Amino acid sequence: MVSIAPWILSLTPPFGQRNSSRRGAYHVWYNQLMPVIGAHVPAAGGLKNSVANAIKIGAECMQIFGASSRQWSVKQPSGEEIAEYKAALREAGLGPVFLHAAYLVNLASPSAEQRGKSIQSLVEHLKIASAIGAEGLIFHPGSSRGDPVDEAVKRIASGAGETLEKVKGKSKLILENDVGGGNLVGGLDEIGRVIKRVKSKRLGVCIDTAHGLESGLIERFDEASVKRLFDEFDEKIGIERLRVLHVNDSKTPAGSRRDRHENIGEGYIGRDGFRALASEPRVRELPWIMEVPGFDGKGPDKRNVDLLRSIAASPS
Ligand SMILES: [Zn+2]
Ligand SMILES: [Zn+2]
Repeated sequence: MVSIAPWILSLTPPFGQRNSSRRGAYHVWYNQLMPVIGAHVPAAGGLKNSVANAIKIGAECMQIFGASSRQWSVKQPSGEEIAEYKAALREAGLGPVFLHAAYLVNLASPSAEQRGKSIQSLVEHLKIASAIGAEGLIFHPGSSRGDPVDEAVKRIASGAGETLEKVKGKSKLILENDVGGGNLVGGLDEIGRVIKRVKSKRLGVCIDTAHGLESGLIERFDEASVKRLFDEFDEKIGIERLRVLHVNDSKTPAGSRRDRHENIGEGYIGRDGFRALASEPRVRELPWIMEVPGFDGKGPDKRNVDLLRSIAASPS
């Protein structure tokens, strides 16, 4: 075997082979698993543009809005648009791809009308996910607006179950942990209870690092705390449900319950925090998707992607 100094390899990540696993694609980097690093990218002007946008910043996987993020009405992409997108994606070798649901969605709402519209919106977005072969549709559990948490859990479970019932296929519905303020439901307890009620293998979970810190789910990102977080996840939800990470730094401190994303290394998680995250074997084979403001304020950029990749290649 040719011997190469490890520091030379570390200059040129990603290096190594692309593999497939139960959880999707990942890299084997210098004999250890590397997460697939990607970001939320715009799909304005047609789905295929998202692929070009991902390539431009060096993302290997991505998240997009399948339709408008601020409207109830959903326009399904045409067959031609989907074909162009798929061809571009194949050529780029990108993946996995996730969709993010519209911000209006609130399955936990006390209003039946709001819940109905939310289910309808999730159904339409999940149809798009399915049509374009996306891994899943990520959504926020929502706000109970003051109602008891038990009620919220039942409503979310019922809405998620109905959505999955209406859209068959492989694409998953993925619940994201929330910051916890203002009656927001979405801690590990609640997510675990929703999953137990729905009993579908197509219901997954996304952990957002910024929300984790802001909600107080994790006090700081050091190795011991990161391990505790995923131990707790495993106990309350089951680690096999964890499908993807939203890897964002936080502008607000632990327990702030204020959701403000920050560029990698510039917030309360910091570079060392993400190094600690990278040292956790249970998340090293997952896609890591950034939703950061960008160093020029225009959304996730190459600088964030490169930085996170180099951090992931040198865990603490
Ligand atoms: Zn997120
Ligand atoms: Zn957020």
